[in-house]
Amino acid sequence: MQLEFKARIDNILNRISKAARAAGRDPSDITLVAVSKTFPAETVAAANDAGLDTFGENYVQEALKKIEALSGRSIHWHFIGHLQSNKAKAAVKHFQLIHSIDRMTLAKAVAKEAKKNRKVQPVLVQVNIGREKTKSGVDPDKTASFIHEICGLDGIEIRGLMAIPPYTRNPEDARPYFKALARLFEKIRKEFSELSGFSELSMGMSGDFEVAIEEGATIVRIGTAIFGERR
Ligand SMILES: *Cc1c(COP(=O)(O)O)cnc(C)c1O
Repeated sequence: MQLEFKARIDNILNRISKAARAAGRDPSDITLVAVSKTFPAETVAAANDAGLDTFGENYVQEALKKIEALSGRSIHWHFIGHLQSNKAKAAVKHFQLIHSIDRMTLAKAVAKEAKKNRKVQPVLVQVNIGREKTKSGVDPDKTASFIHEICGLDGIEIRGLMAIPPYTRNPEDARPYFKALARLFEKIRKEFSELSGFSELSMGMSGDFEVAIEEGATIVRIGTAIFGERR
């Protein structure tokens, strides 16, 4: 099992490197976030033993159990799910990067908790790049003004953008969405030159991460291709 797991992880790392090099990029500029939602702490431990050190979780309660169980390990935890403002305290305490800032109330709640802890919390702004009614995220046309509103908050550092494009069976069909997010990212980077840490583009999942890397992803979030199907 462990061997098979290691082979699966090596395969993903190879595919990331290959996609990066094909796009003329340095593979070490891409962070793999292993999305461990629904899988137990033992599985995360096995993936950590196989060489992975950054894990993504969607639910605070579920994550806290694993974070506690694995507290002896040096693991980076990223929060990638929809975050309720009343969970901001736990999120700030336990996650190195929050990918899903999508509204003012949440940005304020996170900033407030961070300040209380004398910390600056790195965050990404989630963009609803496909303008889907069922998805959270800031409308692409409103992202610059949203960042303008929150960039003055002490306690958070805006590190970049994140998006989950509409589901497509063929990864090529996701390319226009990745392109659109990358374009928005560049526009904001130029417009907000004072945001010196604005450098991360979190996009690409199991089915389409190579296309996302070709379009400029610096963080890919991969679950199924590493851990298998979720139940
Ligand atoms: C579950 C999830 C992923 C991983 O999806 P896979 O298709 O299993 O790789 C990535 N990003 C977010 C935000 C998720 O919720």
